[in-house]
Amino acid sequence: MNPPIVLSSTFHAGGEMAYGRYGNPTWEMFESAVGALEGGAATSYASGMAAIAAVLDLVPEGGTVVAGPHAYHGTLAMLAQLEERGRVTVRRVDPTDLDAVVAALPGADLLWLESPTNPLLHVVDLPPLLAAAREAGVVSVVDSTFATPLLQRPLEDGAAVVVHSATKYLSGHSDLLMGVVVVRDAELARRLVAHRSLHGAIPGSVEAWLALRGMRTLHLRMERAQASAAELVKRLRGHRRVTRVHYPGFGAIVSIEVEGDAATAQAVCGATRLWVHTTSLGGVESSLERRRRWAGEHPDVPETLLRLSVGIEDVDDLWRDLDSALEPAPSGEGGPVAAASYGV
Ligand SMILES: *Cc1c(COP(=O)(O)O)cnc(C)c1O
Repeated sequence: MNPPIVLSSTFHAGGEMAYGRYGNPTWEMFESAVGALEGGAATSYASGMAAIAAVLDLVPEGGTVVAGPHAYHGTLAMLAQLEERGRVTVRRVDPTDLDAVVAALPGADLLWLESPTNPLLHVVDLPPLLAAAREAGVVSVVDSTFATPLLQRPLEDGAAVVVHSATKYLSGHSDLLMGVVVVRDAELARRLVAHRSLHGAIPGSVEAWLALRGMRTLHLRMERAQASAAELVKRLRGHRRVTRVHYPGFGAIVSIEVEGDAATAQAVCGATRLWVHTTSLGGVESSLERRRRWAGEHPDVPETLLRLSVGIEDVDDLWRDLDSALEPAPSGEGGPVAAASYGV
């Protein structure tokens, strides 16, 4: 009933496996499950960022990446760093403006899209953008972490590459880090595996096993979390201390802007009892954080924005806890508002 956790750094010569950096039967089972869900060949990595780094490394030396202004801040930081080093040129365009993207594509190597975006939840219309990339001979990539393959299948919409932080919904229990890249093209899949074999950003087999276990309930977790998110959005839209609700209409991440300043928003995070104040998302436990507590977060993200990751708890319990935390707290309860340097 259960796949084995294969703990072996090396394998007897002459068999199917050779060495633990080239392959492992437990990852391969995880990869075949994700590949089946997305409709392509999956390669797994030690983290979402390792997967993103591997994909960006496909860009030839001095190549060009077309990307939107908003995405997971680690992706933005990596693009900025590659640009600073002269490794790539980045053309930044608004991905909701199809004409602008089409104008930026000629001569580019990669189109990087994230939808919905972390944490502003911007959604782009994937099919026309992906078709334009294909027509221009540009490899298109979609970071589909927030949507999961249950709500969005970019390869079917014409993407060349799909990326996930499997740390989030795919594994779903806040107990591991993993990343995965899924492609349809066999040559691209071969290049990714060869790159991983050489660079070594491999997942652990225990992590792959846990991720597989988590994926067995992906549909149930998403169903519950999404239904609760929709219900909470309805109630939050009428809350007197919430000035704006960002929700794309699907998924289980909701961002809200809280009346007041950074300190008042931060105080909400310190006042919840059921919602966990933490970074990361996509677990069975509901969590929240003020994104601008991280220095690396995009300045377009309001200081008062809280990103909520809705889990699978009772929705009325979640509402009661959030509703009472939104009531103004005595000052000093929210913890420090000083920005730290990294967050997910
Ligand atoms: C968390 C996240 C990542 C990075 O994944 P890690 O597993 O933390 O390395 C990339 N993209 C998105 C959209 C994310 O939310």
